[in-house]
Amino acid sequence: MHLIFHEQSLLLVKTSSTWALPNATHLTELDLQLSKIVLADTALVAQLMNPEQLALNAALELVNLRQVVNLLEPKLVEQVIFAQQMLHYQRTNNYCTHCGSQTMVAPTGKWLYCALCQREIYPQISPAMIVAVTRGDKILLAQAKHFAADVWSVLAGFCEVGESIEQTVAREVLEEVGIQIKNIRYFGSQYWPFPNSLMLAFTAEYANGEIVLDADEMRAAGFYAADELPGRPSSKYSIANQLIDDFVQRQLS
Ligand SMILES: [Zn+2]
Repeated sequence: MHLIFHEQSLLLVKTSSTWALPNATHLTELDLQLSKIVLADTALVAQLMNPEQLALNAALELVNLRQVVNLLEPKLVEQVIFAQQMLHYQRTNNYCTHCGSQTMVAPTGKWLYCALCQREIYPQISPAMIVAVTRGDKILLAQAKHFAADVWSVLAGFCEVGESIEQTVAREVLEEVGIQIKNIRYFGSQYWPFPNSLMLAFTAEYANGEIVLDADEMRAAGFYAADELPGRPSSKYSIANQLIDDFVQRQLS
C-alpha cells in the first residue's frame, strides 16, 4: 500500500468511476521525490516533495483529506488517517524539547524518543465532544459560520483544561446556542484528523432556555424533525453523521 501525502492531501488514482491508492508503477514512472517514513511492513508512507511531477499523469491527483474520507472504504480511511497523523507527528517532533537532541523512532514505530535524555515523546491527541441534543421528536442542528450553505450538523467543541468531557458538552451547547441540556449519554468515539481530535460523541436532551446564537461562531440553529432536516454534515464517514442517522432511525422505528 502506498500512502503519499502532500500537505493536507493524499495522492489518489482516478479511474472512470472510482478512486484508489497509487501502486508501485505509478510511483516509478514519475520522478517523485519522497521523504519516506515506513510505518508498517505493508505500507509505504511518505511525504511528496515535488507535486509538480503529477502533471505528467492525468490520472493522479492530490485530493484533500476532507474529501478522501468520503471516497475510500472506511477501513482504508482509518489507515490513511493513522498514517497522516503519524507522518505529521514525526515531521513536527524532530528534536527533544528538553535538551534539543535529535529524536529517534521507537522500535514499535508508534512513538519517538530522545536519543540523549531518553525522554519519550508521544503523539498529541486532543479530546473533543460532539452531541446530538433532542427535544421531543426533534434534533438540534446548527450551521457554523465556516460551513458551506447546505451543511448542517450537531454541535461540537474542544475540551478545555480542567474539564470533564461531560462539562465540555454542557458548556459548548450553552455557549453556542444558549440552551441547557440534561441526560448526557455516551454514544461512541471516532478519531478525527482535523487536526488531531478524538471525537467523543454523546446524546442529550433539551432542558430549558431559548436558542440564542453565539454571534461570532454560529449562522443558524434550530430543532428539526427527522423528515425536515435542513442539511447534513459534509462527511458521511463522520460520527456527526452517525449521530444523525441514529436519531432518524429511532424516529422511524
Ligand atoms: Zn532530550
